[in-house]
Amino acid sequence: MDDCIFCQIVAGDIPSRTVYEDDDVLAFLDANPLAPGHTLVIPKDHHETLNDLPEDLGSEVMAALHRLTPAVEDAVDAPASTVAFNNGEAAGQEVPHVHGHIVPRFEDDGGRTIHALVSERPDLSDDELDDIAAKISD
Ligand code: 5GP
Ligand code: ZN
Repeated sequence: MDDCIFCQIVAGDIPSRTVYEDDDVLAFLDANPLAPGHTLVIPKDHHETLNDLPEDLGSEVMAALHRLTPAVEDAVDAPASTVAFNNGEAAGQEVPHVHGHIVPRFEDDGGRTIHALVSERPDLSDDELDDIAAKISD
């Protein structure tokens, strides 16, 4: 994908501060970090979202996230981190090449949690919850 920023980073056409690389996965510091150590983990092949990512590559990305999360925390002396994907444009994904964020977190950093994603939670009945669970597990 010639016009994809992250593919250009993989190709070495755009510089990045690489912190991990193997045959399938690249990890580098975010250019506009939310915290010191904010790291992005991507598959080298271009796939837009997690939904498009082949399962074996998803496992490689998860393995890198698993390995790097403690390394990132240690590097900036963070006691915790938020690890997340903005999965699709409606979820706020700006770069259409799947990437996991490792954002180091600190006591009283003023950041919020996954539960702050929405301002109003849906009020779902038991039947609606049963229906959704059945559809997901189908
Ligand atoms: P998204 O909103 O798509 O989940 O996050 C995209 C992330 O990529 C943002 O945090 C942004 O700062 C980062 N980013 C965008 N362009 C570049 C770039 O050229 N280099 C690096 N290292 N990070 C980038
Ligand atoms: Zn790409």
